[in-house]
Amino acid sequence: MRIIRADVLGFCAGVRRTVNLAREAAGRHNKRLFTMGPLIHNERVLHDLENSGFSVLDEEALPETLVNSITVIRAHGIGPQLRSELTRRGTEIIDATCPNVHESQRKAQELYEKGFTLFIAGEKKHGEVRGIQMFAPNSIVVEHKDEVSCVVKALLSRHNSEKNTIKTAIIAQTTISKPEYQSICAEIKRFFPDLTVYDTICPATQKRQDALAKLCPQVDAVIIAGDKASSNTRRLLAVAEEHGKPAWIVNAASALPSERAGFGIDKFDSVGLSAGTSTPDILIDEIEQEIIRRGV
Ligand code: SF4
Repeated sequence: MRIIRADVLGFCAGVRRTVNLAREAAGRHNKRLFTMGPLIHNERVLHDLENSGFSVLDEEALPETLVNSITVIRAHGIGPQLRSELTRRGTEIIDATCPNVHESQRKAQELYEKGFTLFIAGEKKHGEVRGIQMFAPNSIVVEHKDEVSCVVKALLSRHNSEKNTIKTAIIAQTTISKPEYQSICAEIKRFFPDLTVYDTICPATQKRQDALAKLCPQVDAVIIAGDKASSNTRRLLAVAEEHGKPAWIVNAASALPSERAGFGIDKFDSVGLSAGTSTPDILIDEIEQEIIRRGV
């Protein structure tokens, strides 16, 4: 029985930087420690941060005062209004927004100021998307190509104008898959042929998807180390399933599927191991060791 790791897996540069900045803050400062929302989509890391003294701030329920505190902004970033609110309440901000997300925010603001109607291809509730929207208040989030005609109708009725007078552009959530982005862009172009398309997809997530796609033909099943709350981890599951492999997302060694769930010791000759961009190295190692321990 063989375990084969994907060539690229686990923490991306942006998440590693975010977690390191938070750990440094915990070591250096004698102040109250906060993260603006959960720092990353991984329970293990969140638990470690809690043990280091961090509490999680809720955007909808900020404490009246945050004096004598430090707040770490997560890799997904935040909008300008929320940043002002945090500063007004007296916290010192450590900005761990991923540079790629900063670039999307900058682009969104620039397009808004130039009078473009901005589409954002991504998940409406995702923190990164919600943050970027704050830089382009007229932006429209599209999750799937099937929504496009509905969205365009609403846009035209709001503008009360012919569609060829509206300047349009689109950017992507950094973790969306390329085919998904292309299908949304193609659909919008049916209505707005002059749509300006920016490629803001992060290569980190694509590299992990490509590495897993390459690995799939060599293995019988796939374990993805990570958290179901992480969208790029869920995409890895989709990649494995598209290749016809039984696959599971596992957020702890103890959560490996049991024989009853089809992960029987004798069932597979080989297992592929991948991990989302928010999965720490230690968790990948522990899951690998547990698979070996079970005799897979
Ligand atoms: S996936 Fe890409 S954009 Fe997102 S945090 Fe990692 S490096 Fe940054």
